[in-house]
Amino acid sequence: MPRCSSCEADAPVTDIKTVGALCGRCLIGVVERRIKKDVRLSHPFKKGERVRVIDDGSTKAGVMLALLGSCLGGLPIKREDRKAAISSIEPKDFEGFSKLLLPLSADDLAKDFLRWLFGKDQPDTKAIPFLACLLDSEVEAYAKAKGISSSPTTPSPLRRDILDFESRYPGLIHGLLKASRGFRQPADAGRGPR
Ligand SMILES: [Zn+2]
Repeated sequence: MPRCSSCEADAPVTDIKTVGALCGRCLIGVVERRIKKDVRLSHPFKKGERVRVIDDGSTKAGVMLALLGSCLGGLPIKREDRKAAISSIEPKDFEGFSKLLLPLSADDLAKDFLRWLFGKDQPDTKAIPFLACLLDSEVEAYAKAKGISSSPTTPSPLRRDILDFESRYPGLIHGLLKASRGFRQPADAGRGPR
C-alpha cells in the first residue's frame, strides 16, 4: 500500500497529480494552508466587513463552509449565509455586502473565463470564487477526507473539454486562472504600490 509522502503514515492516501500521495490529515492541511494564503493575498477580509456566503447545496459549498469554519472562524467579519443557486444571484444580492463568496473552484473559473472571453457576462469583482486556488479534484479529495457529502453533477460539455485539455496539457487550468485574474483586476489596480 502506498504511504503518505508527507508524514509517511501507513494510512489510505489520495493520489492527486497536483499534490501527490497524501493521507487525509496531510491533504486537509495542504488545502487549508493554501486557502488561508489565497484569502490573505487575493481578497483579505477587513474587520467588521459584511460578507455574504452563497450556499448552493453542492459539495463545493460544503467544502467552502468547512474551510470558512476551520480557517476563518476567528475572523471578526459579519457573515451571512444564504441558500441560493449561483445562477439566481442578482445585483441586489450584493447590496450592503462588500463581498459575496461563491463555491467556485479553479475549474469553474477557467470555464467562466472562457465564457467571458467569448463575449458573455463579465464576472462581478465583488463576487469571489472562494475555492479558486483549488482544482475540482482537490476539492473532492478534501470533501472526502472531511466526510462532506457529495452530490455528483454532470460536467457541462465545456467543462469536459477543459478537463480533457487539462489531462493533455497539465497546468492549463491554473494558467487560465492566472490570465483570468489579470483580466478581472479593476482598471486602476495597476497604480500605486502593490
Ligand atoms: Zn500524511
